[in-house]
This record gives sequence, structure tokens and C-alpha cells, in this order.
Amino acid sequence: MSTVQTLMSLFGKKIICNLFGHKMITSKNITKHVKEYKCKTCQLELTNIENGHTTHLTPELRDINETLFQFNKKRILRLENV
Ligand SMILES: [Zn+2]
Repeated sequence: MSTVQTLMSLFGKKIICNLFGHKMITSKNITKHVKEYKCKTCQLELTNIENGHTTHLTPELRDINETLFQFNKKRILRLENV
């Protein structure tokens, strides 16, 4: 068992992120500027808000992003149909 795996089994995955930082991947592209990110290790979810800051993905923000995503998708479809 590696050190990382030992730490994980003792303290849970969050300790790994506290020690080494989150391994964020882009989980969803909402618009050109708004994206949702997820940590591969602890499953923490983040999103960026209008001013470019990254914040925790709360249920409210997830709803807003979903609305934005649907809106953006429709806009792209409309543009493609022109
Ligand atoms: Zn993490």
C-alpha cells in the first residue's frame, strides 16, 4: 500500500486534497466563460461565477448554471439554423 493510499484509508480523501491540492477536472462547460469543475479525489464541485472567481457549486448555483446551459444551447441552435 502506498503512502497516499494509507493516508486515504486513515483520514479519508479530503486529507489528500488538503496536503496535495485538489485534482480539478472540468465536469461541464456551461458557456464560454462559465464552467463546472470537479475534484477527481474528493468529488468537491466548484464553478466560476461572473466576475471570474471560483466558488463552491451550491444547489442554487447548479440551478443557475443549468438554466444558463439550456439558454446557451438554444442560442447556439438558433445561430446554427440561420
Ligand atoms: Zn479534492
